[in-house]
Amino acid sequence: MSLTRTAEERFLRYVAIETTSCPDCEQVPSTACQFELANLLAAELRELGLHDAAVDEHCYVTASLPANVAGREVPVIGWIAHLDTSPDVSGKNVRPQVRDYQGGEIALPNGKIITEDEALKSCRGHKIVTSDGSTLLGADDKAGIAAVMTAVERLLTENQPHGVIKICFTPDEEVGNGTQFFDLQRFGAECAYTVDGELPGELNRETFTAKAAVIRVTGREIHPGTAKGIMVNASRIAAEIIALMPKNQAPETTEGDEPYLHPYHVEGNVAAAAVRVLLRSFDDTQMNQLENRLQEILTQVRSDFPGALVELTVKEQYRNMREGVDQHPEILQKLEEAARRSGVTPCWQPIRGGTDGSRLTEMGLPTPNIYTGGHNFHSATEWLSVNHLETTVETLVQLAYVWAE
Ligand SMILES: [Zn+2]
Repeated sequence: MSLTRTAEERFLRYVAIETTSCPDCEQVPSTACQFELANLLAAELRELGLHDAAVDEHCYVTASLPANVAGREVPVIGWIAHLDTSPDVSGKNVRPQVRDYQGGEIALPNGKIITEDEALKSCRGHKIVTSDGSTLLGADDKAGIAAVMTAVERLLTENQPHGVIKICFTPDEEVGNGTQFFDLQRFGAECAYTVDGELPGELNRETFTAKAAVIRVTGREIHPGTAKGIMVNASRIAAEIIALMPKNQAPETTEGDEPYLHPYHVEGNVAAAAVRVLLRSFDDTQMNQLENRLQEILTQVRSDFPGALVELTVKEQYRNMREGVDQHPEILQKLEEAARRSGVTPCWQPIRGGTDGSRLTEMGLPTPNIYTGGHNFHSATEWLSVNHLETTVETLVQLAYVWAE
C-alpha cells in the first residue's frame, strides 16, 4: 500500500469502498463491508506513525496523535467522522467524476442533472466531484474522513506545537447507532468535533431533539358481507390518525427552527395496523407540545372508534447538543477562530437532524460539528468541492494549533 498525500486522492480511494449501513439490522456494524474501509484506515494511520491505530470488534477505528509540546498541558481534543453511507441510495460501485466546474447545471453520465443552486453557484471555479448518477457519492462522510487523515499528516509534517489528538471513525451513524459502542473513557478527550457537515462557514452546535413513536391499532375482523356494526377496520383508523396530524407541522412544510410530526411508515390490514412517527423539535417545550398533540389525536380516535384498541409507545432517540456544548464556550470559540484562520466566516446553523455529536454531548463529551465541503447528501446528486475539502483540512490543522496556544 502506498500513501497518497492529497485529501482528494484519499477521498477518491475511500469512496470506492462500499460501506452502506443497514437500518433494520441489530448488530454493530450493521454491515460487514464497513470493516474493509476501517481496516484500510487503521493501516494508513499506522503507516503515518500512529502506532496505536486499531479496529475493534464493532468496527470503531481509533488512534492517537501524540502531543509535540513538552512541559505544559494542552487539552486533549478529538476528531470524529463516520465510515458508513446512507442506505437511502446505493453506495456500491461508486464511480467518482472529477471536473473543473465553471457554472451551470451538471449533467451526470447516467442522465441525472445537478441544478445550480446557491451552494453550487458559490463553487464556480472549483474542482467538483460527483458520482455517475447511479449511486450516491459518499462525501457524507468520507470527505470528513479524508479531511481528518490529511490533517493528521499535515500536523506530523509541519511539526508546529499541538496537543494530543484522538481520532475515531464510527460505523452505523446513518442508522442511528454510531455511538452505541463508543468508549468515552478510552477515547479520553475533553471535547471533540465531528467532521460531518456541508459547506465551509456552516458550523453546528444545535441539532434536533428527537423521539420516535409507534401507534398500534387493533381492530376487529369479519367477512365484509356480514360486517355491519361489527367490523372495526384498523387500517381506516390508521388513516384517520394520519389525517388528524397537523399538516403545517410536517417536514415538507417546515424549515429553520420549526418542529414537526412525521408519519413515515404505515402498515396494516383490518385486524391490525401500525403508524410510525418521528417527533422533532429544538427544545423540550415544543417536544412536549408535539407529544400532547399526538395524545389528543389518539384520544379523539379512541372516542370515534370505541371498538378499537389504540396504543402508543414513544422512545427517545437523541437530544439537542446545545445545552451540552454551550456550557463550554471555549470549544466553540476555538472552532470559530480556526475557521477564520482558514479564510472562512463562521456561521452557526441548526441541523434539522442529528449527528454522532448529539448523543456524545449527551453522554458527556461536548461535540459540535464542522463542515466537509460536500452537499446534497443522501442522494445520487451528492457532490463535493475539492477546494472546500482542502479548506476543511486547513480548519482542522488550525484548530489543533489554536488549542495549543
Ligand atoms: Zn454524515
